[in-house]
Amino acid sequence: MKKSLEQYSKEDHGIKKKDVDLNVVKISSTLINNGYQAFLVGGCIRDLLLQKKPKDFDIATDASPAEICRLFPNARIIGKRFKIVHVYTDEKKFFEVTTFRSDISKKNNEKRFKKQHGMIKRDNVYGTISQDAYRRDFTINSLYLDLDTEILHDYVGGLNDIKKRQLRLIKKPSISYQEDPVRMLRAIRFESKLDLELKGDSKESIKKMSHLINNVSPFRLFDEILKIMHSGSAVVSYKKLIKYKIFKNLFPYTDKIIKNQANYNDFFIAALTNTDNRIRDELHVNPSFIYAVFLWPFFQEMQEQYNNKKTRDVDFIFRSVMDKQAKYIAIPEFFQSTIFTIWSLQSSFLNLSSRNIQYVTNIEKFRAAFDFFYLRSLINNDLKYYADKWNEIQKNVKSTKSNRRGKTYGAKK
Ligand code: ATP
Ligand code: MG
Repeated sequence: MKKSLEQYSKEDHGIKKKDVDLNVVKISSTLINNGYQAFLVGGCIRDLLLQKKPKDFDIATDASPAEICRLFPNARIIGKRFKIVHVYTDEKKFFEVTTFRSDISKKNNEKRFKKQHGMIKRDNVYGTISQDAYRRDFTINSLYLDLDTEILHDYVGGLNDIKKRQLRLIKKPSISYQEDPVRMLRAIRFESKLDLELKGDSKESIKKMSHLINNVSPFRLFDEILKIMHSGSAVVSYKKLIKYKIFKNLFPYTDKIIKNQANYNDFFIAALTNTDNRIRDELHVNPSFIYAVFLWPFFQEMQEQYNNKKTRDVDFIFRSVMDKQAKYIAIPEFFQSTIFTIWSLQSSFLNLSSRNIQYVTNIEKFRAAFDFFYLRSLINNDLKYYADKWNEIQKNVKSTKSNRRGKTYGAKK
């Protein structure tokens, strides 16, 4: 894609300056008043154009990280590969300020840049605004708003794509997904969350290239899957992960099992519907929960296998599941312990003795475990009687977290 720069006035693009965080307006004017360029860029512009509330505001500039730090006493450089600057406000909020950079994948470009500007430091390859625009993933994420003139700079036809509600990669899919396979997951997240349509072979290529996702660090995938599942459109995204044939590369063990047992699919949909409702209602969502859901079929299958042999305990089975899955998505230890509690308590919900009730309700993650059991009961009639009983019981158990506002997955029907 090579397009020339289009500029749109505030009447044309319609973004109102009053919808931008005042701190961002200040940071931007400080940069501009000191002779630098400064633009709002990325998700915030996209969201404002789609009439959504931006999650955060990012600023791009031609000032180097050191120059940014000189202007803002409360600035901190972070990142090893790419240096980004966090500029802190008095309320301890921070905003990301990033120096324009060019594509590091283009080796000769790197050399040329070194000669021209002498500005390469390890992986930091600084560039111009137009180079910065072409290194981004989707056209709709590559729009630059100058807060001083209120002119929107568009190098890639992003505004037009937003108007047509289309999601388009800036580079050819075969190159873009190869360069960073996480873009396939971002494509699914934006398509689902923003109700856009992935264009042309950007869509078909995911099916062909999905295996590349396994080149991505399992730790990065842990975060990306959470972003998808906590986007408020988990159900739609899950269906797309299956449709675009990428789920099998993320949860290969689960994928094999659910092909033959459709009821697990119903369980996933019930759980993800609940997650979407909780996000909509701004309730707490526990990152462990979604992984407990997706790995449940695998854990159950392993339990059956080992129970037949009567050799191993729950800890051993749990470890095997986590270790096998870690090759694809690595779940940090902290979240693993919640998953362990959720799974190991499931059989306790079949025991309604007062001693057991006393014991189970005193466990810290009791509610998460009950929520999980409740969701299982929605697709398994054998569990319904117990789930209803525990639903009554849990109403009398005080919530430890105020932001749960007393609601549970189970209570929401
Ligand atoms: P969100 O609403 O999830 O924050 P976002 O588009 O702002 O969406 P970020 O991860 O915050 O996503 O990234 C900010 C910007 O950086 C993006 O809008 C895009 O321009 C660029 N970017 C992010 N990830 C990639 C990537 N994998 N490849 C190329 N550009 C990317
Ligand atoms: Mg963002």
